[in-house]
Amino acid sequence: MQVRYYYTTVWCIRGYFLHYCQKTQTRSLYIHWPFCPYKCHFCPFVALASHDQFMERYHRALVSEIRLFAEQQHHKDQIDTIHFGGGTPSTYPNDLLLDMFGILRESFEIQPTVEIALEVNPGTVHAGQLEVWKACGVNRLSIGVQSLKDKVLSGLNRHQTARQVYELLEKASMFFDNLSVDLILGLPDVSADEWRQLIQEVVSWPIKHVSVYFLSVHENTPLYFKVKTNQITLPSDEHVVALYQWTCNMLMQHDFLQYELSNFAKKSYESRHNCAYWDRREYRGFGIGACSFDGTRRMQNEKNIMRYMDAIEKNEPVIVFHEELTDEQVKLERLMLGLRRPVGVTLQDFVDTSSQAQKDALHKTVQKLHDCKLIEWNNDSIRLTMQGLALENEVIAQLSGRH
Ligand code: SF4
Repeated sequence: MQVRYYYTTVWCIRGYFLHYCQKTQTRSLYIHWPFCPYKCHFCPFVALASHDQFMERYHRALVSEIRLFAEQQHHKDQIDTIHFGGGTPSTYPNDLLLDMFGILRESFEIQPTVEIALEVNPGTVHAGQLEVWKACGVNRLSIGVQSLKDKVLSGLNRHQTARQVYELLEKASMFFDNLSVDLILGLPDVSADEWRQLIQEVVSWPIKHVSVYFLSVHENTPLYFKVKTNQITLPSDEHVVALYQWTCNMLMQHDFLQYELSNFAKKSYESRHNCAYWDRREYRGFGIGACSFDGTRRMQNEKNIMRYMDAIEKNEPVIVFHEELTDEQVKLERLMLGLRRPVGVTLQDFVDTSSQAQKDALHKTVQKLHDCKLIEWNNDSIRLTMQGLALENEVIAQLSGRH
């Protein structure tokens, strides 16, 4: 799941092919492994169940894409972060993963201080895998716990059990110090007490990082149709916001510092890779649907696995969407990213080229959002409140509509 890019960017999709051949200063790499043992009903990601027969061919395509990119850099880029997302990267076969790391080290400058993270689904980890990941240099595991209620998860076609989570945590903590868990708040049939119990348990685990995501209902997912046809009833926004508020306090009491609205870390254990995205630093994504940013342009790879592999094998480009960001889009991105972080957004950054009428209108909007307790407003800086997070899109639309 790239970046856990949970916000929606405003890319206009032009649908033409682009040869990506410019030299960049990429320090963060994202590698997309799309294979999953099942397709969760809430999943909006480029993820494929029942496609394992393509793993080896896809790996070869990934390797070719990485090599080609590295060759175009004319020198070995020094890398700060590498993130294996998916899909389910914990299903990457050991021999292929070892090969991948050989290629990465051949192609880039990878010092021992590099953050190398791998997303792991409980229930997919087999004997010997943790040792191989460690040997490859992986130093951060991001574990998709989501919930400990097996029935709720299986109702959403996610076939993992609490027992598998406990087993994985126990084994993984013997090899890795930097463990993170992902949780989903707002799942159906999880009571407030059950959620609080989960968080009380999570803070006692041998982990350094917690991501708490709101359940989002994405169009064309099975969850969307179940909600539409009243087969599933989701908890109210008020219920979710109240629990989120409680969760933030609970995590902070246990030294998990909030550095983004969905992310909490023990001191110095923030995800450096995600921070690169949020700081709008350059990064390069490899594999189907992977996104890249070169400082001025956002790009996305072909999402269809067959077309992706065919294109690579024929030496054709795989970046199918790209967009040169306008000043307004850059502002909007900064707004969307900044509002979610404790430092917030400086209003002055958004009015430098605005007319007096626009500035007045923005001021009024900020005042209104502040009165509704959707944003905090200190001097020239604004950021979302916990209530504002639940209405994030609305807040952003209102703020950006003034420009
Ligand atoms: S395991 Fe993750 S990527 Fe795969 S289907 Fe489920 S949510 Fe999507």
